[in-house]
Amino acid sequence: MRARKPVIGLTPLMDIERDSLWMLPGYMSGVQQAGGLPVMLPLTDDEAALRQIVESCDGFLFTGGQDVSPSLYDEEPMSCVAVCPERDRMETKLLQYVIAADKPLLGICRGIQLLNVALGGDLYQDLPTQWKSATSHRMDPPYNLPWHTNQILPDTPLHALLRSETLPVNSCHHQAVKTLAPSLRVMAVAADNLIEAVWRPESRFLWAVQWHPEFSYATDPASMEIFRAFVESCGSSG
Ligand code: MN
Repeated sequence: MRARKPVIGLTPLMDIERDSLWMLPGYMSGVQQAGGLPVMLPLTDDEAALRQIVESCDGFLFTGGQDVSPSLYDEEPMSCVAVCPERDRMETKLLQYVIAADKPLLGICRGIQLLNVALGGDLYQDLPTQWKSATSHRMDPPYNLPWHTNQILPDTPLHALLRSETLPVNSCHHQAVKTLAPSLRVMAVAADNLIEAVWRPESRFLWAVQWHPEFSYATDPASMEIFRAFVESCGSSG
């Protein structure tokens, strides 16, 4: 008999102009390459539906997308901020159920920002105006290539996985973690000290990164290792 693959629920991307839900293929193929079975979730904040989804899936990938609404951390939005309140509502609730059930979760880009805000932290709304730095976080394509080099902190699961102190990554974000949520810990920072990866020690596997392994997993072994560690955790009985 064939082994059952871990089912990974992916939060849907929303194209507000076209009133469409969509998915970047890299999130799915990264999970598939790592041995998982990705499914795109419906956009819903229905609590019964979300609870059933958490029971049904082995793990969750919180995808990139619009900015997290600054109202969630009690700030007025700056003019450049573009939000998707439906995703905020869904993912904030879904995260609570995921943590309660201790299912593995990987957050990417918006995913790290949503995680930090939902757990009580806040964000830089716009790095170019709020964060004076010699490091640019908005890269030119192609997006699979590294743009800046992160420092991986010792005694973190990311360091244990990659066995390296440095990690070249791509970078395509104008927001970032400002005040870290109390239950999260930093795993990697950029050369300008901006937080680029976090984890939650109380959870079985709750990691989030500010860069985009879904663009680089095919050419960058470290990105693939992150997908693999995540899917492996989803396949192990909690
Ligand atoms: Mn960056």
